[in-house]
Amino acid sequence: TSFGFTKVGEGQKQALVDDVFYKVASRYDLMNDLMSGGLHRVWKDAMVSYLAPPKSSASGWRLLDVAGGTGDVSTRVVEKSQRSVKAVVCDINNSMLNVGRDRAEKAGLSDLITFSQGNAEDLPFPDKSFDAYTIAFGIRNVPDIPKALREANRVLKRGGRFMCLEFSEVDVPGLDKVYDAFSFNAIPAMGKWVTGDGEPYQYLVESIRKFPSQERFAEMIREAGLARVTYRNYSGGIAALHSGWKL
Ligand code: SAM
Repeated sequence: TSFGFTKVGEGQKQALVDDVFYKVASRYDLMNDLMSGGLHRVWKDAMVSYLAPPKSSASGWRLLDVAGGTGDVSTRVVEKSQRSVKAVVCDINNSMLNVGRDRAEKAGLSDLITFSQGNAEDLPFPDKSFDAYTIAFGIRNVPDIPKALREANRVLKRGGRFMCLEFSEVDVPGLDKVYDAFSFNAIPAMGKWVTGDGEPYQYLVESIRKFPSQERFAEMIREAGLARVTYRNYSGGIAALHSGWKL
């Protein structure tokens, strides 16, 4: 496939994203480690600590992990709860889900983590059915972000928690330039090295630049109906974690 990433329209966006993750599914976790220098693990652990899932199955607490891919966040949440809560990984791409399903089985987590194909913009779950909704490095790829946020609000129970981890705007002078150089050159090069095609990664880097600032994104989450929206930056804003509540 060949595409000019600057010319991608909304309609083509999902197809392009699907293509990227179809190609990398088996090497996805390796790519994550390479591209973030292992930092994604630190950010995800921080997210899961902040979410603080209950350490008892008594409440029947359930997580929906959207754009959950291979189930990295869900696995961390379930382990943090000492294997007492349940998680549903929802992703549009079956190749990613299949890798996750195999992994969960090998880890003996099949009873606690289930995998379900679905679109973040149109979730195949009833209203008010989850205690928490997480989306990590996924919302940026969704063509209609306000729609995905309204869906998050819809499927959460009252008192439920919304959390979104995403690449964001670097707020440390100097770091922004280093980061630009790294992402525009090194990330597509690593993508080409590992998957044989650098172009889709160029598109992903571009999508980080187009994503709204921390403040603006917080506003979008409020517009979707979520309350007490706050955010914290990780690694100088390379990533940001947004949190909100369904009241
Ligand atoms: N959350 C996982 C993690 O942090 O390791 C995976 C993140 S991966 C960068 C992004 C995921 O978003 C991919 O698995 C992709 O298939 C999924 N995705 C893209 N568009 C989607 C959509 N509209 N609805 C649901 N998932 C989507």
